[in-house]
Amino acid sequence: MKLSELRIGDRGYIRKVSGDEGLRKRLAELGFVAGVEVESVRKAPFKDPGAYLVRGTHISLRNAEASKIEISLTGDRKVPEKPGDQQTRKESKPPIRISPAGVREIKVALVGNPNCGKTSLFNQASRSREKVANYSGVTVSMKEARLNKDGYRFTLIDLPGTYSLSAHSPEEEYVREYLIKQRPDIVVNVLDSTRLERNLYLTTQLIDMKIPAVIALNMFDEFQAQKDYLKYDKLGRLFGIPFVPTIARKGKGIEELLKKIIQVFEQTEDTARQVDIPYCTEIEQGIHVLQEKLHSLTDIPVKHINHYSRYMAVRLLEGDMKVLDHFREQDKRKLGLMEEVRTRISHIESFYNETASDLITDDKYGFIEGALKETLIPGGEKRNDISRRIDNVLTHSTFSLPIFFGIILFVFYITFSIGAYPVAWLKNLFDLVNVGFAGLLPAGIFRDMVIQGIVPGVGAVAVFLPNILIPFLFLSFLEDTGYMARTAFIVDRIMHRGGLHGKSFIPLLIGFGCNVPAIMATRTVEDGRNRLLTMLIIPFMSCSARLPIYVLFISAFFPSWKPLVLFSLYLIGILMAWMTVVFSGKLLFKRIDNPFVMELPPYRLPTPKAVVQHMWFKTYYFIKKMGGVILLASVIIWALSYFPAGNDGLNTAMIDQQSIQQEQEMKAETVTGASKIENSYIGKIGSWINPVFAPLGFDWKMSVAILTGLPAKEIIVSTLGVLYQTDEDLLSRKNTIKGSQNLTSNDRSMLRAFSFMVFTLLYFPCIGTLAVMRRESGSLRWTLFTLGYTTLVAWLTSFIIFQGGMIFG
Ligand code: GDP
Ligand code: MG
Repeated sequence: MKLSELRIGDRGYIRKVSGDEGLRKRLAELGFVAGVEVESVRKAPFKDPGAYLVRGTHISLRNAEASKIEISLTGDRKVPEKPGDQQTRKESKPPIRISPAGVREIKVALVGNPNCGKTSLFNQASRSREKVANYSGVTVSMKEARLNKDGYRFTLIDLPGTYSLSAHSPEEEYVREYLIKQRPDIVVNVLDSTRLERNLYLTTQLIDMKIPAVIALNMFDEFQAQKDYLKYDKLGRLFGIPFVPTIARKGKGIEELLKKIIQVFEQTEDTARQVDIPYCTEIEQGIHVLQEKLHSLTDIPVKHINHYSRYMAVRLLEGDMKVLDHFREQDKRKLGLMEEVRTRISHIESFYNETASDLITDDKYGFIEGALKETLIPGGEKRNDISRRIDNVLTHSTFSLPIFFGIILFVFYITFSIGAYPVAWLKNLFDLVNVGFAGLLPAGIFRDMVIQGIVPGVGAVAVFLPNILIPFLFLSFLEDTGYMARTAFIVDRIMHRGGLHGKSFIPLLIGFGCNVPAIMATRTVEDGRNRLLTMLIIPFMSCSARLPIYVLFISAFFPSWKPLVLFSLYLIGILMAWMTVVFSGKLLFKRIDNPFVMELPPYRLPTPKAVVQHMWFKTYYFIKKMGGVILLASVIIWALSYFPAGNDGLNTAMIDQQSIQQEQEMKAETVTGASKIENSYIGKIGSWINPVFAPLGFDWKMSVAILTGLPAKEIIVSTLGVLYQTDEDLLSRKNTIKGSQNLTSNDRSMLRAFSFMVFTLLYFPCIGTLAVMRRESGSLRWTLFTLGYTTLVAWLTSFIIFQGGMIFG
């Protein structure tokens, strides 16, 4: 019977995994190999995908994938009979090592499965040292930090998580390239101790690579809570790698880990030795032949080929020709090698009647299982139970989607209701600051620049910091608890309908915080086209930089509908993204199906420290931005509005009013200011570009703001802050639109405000986003396309909204 047919709550044993090579490999890395017990745990909304429990881990698979897995309900463990089985563990050779490059400099790379605690370890170990660039969630590229200990200088490198080094995804490729090209002195292989079997799979590949390693038995607290017991010294001897228990999130065990690293580096640790994973005879034979061939290529462009040849030979027999990418396409030696590989593979397959790749996986798991049988004593308490109970609610096939939307609405509500208090305090603070400057500075152009340009410009954005932080707090909470992975699970079916992948949902969600890390997070999307498509639609995900604009306009024009209007904006963004996906499926991309194989990690409570740190980083970058680009933009905009006419005469009156916070009263004072600013440079620019935006209902100031918002969307708010102070207040501009007789002036200005918000939501992603997009997609063409496309979509949508509203309103 097929795994997809297994009833929820039932168990079976895997007999055979079919399907294409890539899928089989991926499934094997996650533990789906013959003989293993699986349980069908639940189904997502619309009955697809499903979650399955394998080797203590919840893994989601679409029905299409689960139907490729043949199971039986009885536990007849299928042990492949291989002639080579007798010849198991070989004599281990003495360790092969490279001599340390610089004296007492140790380059340490952290490698491990996603979510095993690498970044936590990295942060704890390098605490109070050099910078740790910390994006929310997924580690998508390398991070580096230095620290000193016992006279050694460590360079720690945090790498993205990988299940294997088979280069199925960009991350795996990245890690593999890193290990081969940069060859760290020591690899710290971080393991989730509660999932040893699966985590050790990657270890077997590191062993093939012959890189000196230390294993961090991380999550040791959870492991102990399960009452499991592990003779890890013995396990270390079997693997030839020392094991050190750690609790990365609490910083425990890190001292010992660093000590072990030094010992392995200095070759004084006798657990460390070169062990070879024993494969069955014909495979060993093949490896041997291929290794010889590789060694004979003296000019092979891989450093330390002696270390890598076993790994490369194994990968070649697994059918992975990418390890030969270092050769030029038509290189005779490459072709010769490939010919040899094919001969070997077909020999092995006819000999054992199984694919070479499956045999290798079996042997790796065989080695792991053998070692664990001797060392691991399970305690029987499974931490999965709690997560499972939470999942019974949060990923329930009916309630999960309403719960998800409920959570989101709740966050919007909080953003406004709780966010309003600190925003009001900050507003008062900036008003006070301005009054202070007005009193302190001597009258003149500098004073004007400060109180008309800098303070209102920067202040206009800075006051919204709380509003920006709230969604970020929420997003990081989603990521830290493990709910993020669930959202991918519950929406995969919907996403799949449109031709996207459930995994694309995570970058999209991150995009609500900031588009830049979101684009980086697309690296988890395995297929290139899906990844590109995900990148193209990320700009439609309304990032938090756009929030100040919404908050400003929504508070002014839609006071009684706040969360709903905000929600509708996000929905419009999502709708546009959706339409893009649907159209592109018809026009640009051929639709391809990629398996949805994803781990659902156990729920964890985020540590308060992590939360504080996260918020602090966000605040820090925000303040940096305020002091940099926003400040500069405010000054430029002010100057453009000040010259050539100048604006004196306004200041005193304005400040007095601000000090008593009567924003509405300002319009009384504005007649002269307004006419002057219209004659300024910015007024000219505004009236010049206004015809483009007039059909959307914007006045010239809004048009200018659109223009200035190109580098960063916060500048829109700064611009409005600078421009509207010398004009009527934004709030009072409610009767300037001529048009439909049916609409009250209030309705019209609401319509205009909405049209403006939609435009800022959809148009031109900020420079930062475009730059990362260019880098990540490697395509200038697509980047320019995105630029033009988003702006066109923005214009058309706002046009339809405004004009439609005027006609039908
Ligand atoms: P990475 O994906 O390997 O970089 O893993 P992270 O460092 O992001 O950690 C993944 C999750 O595991 C986070 O929620 C951490 O708080 C949590 N975590 C990390 N180390 C430990 C540990 O030793 N014990 C427990 N209980 N949780 C941990
Ligand atoms: Mg990480």
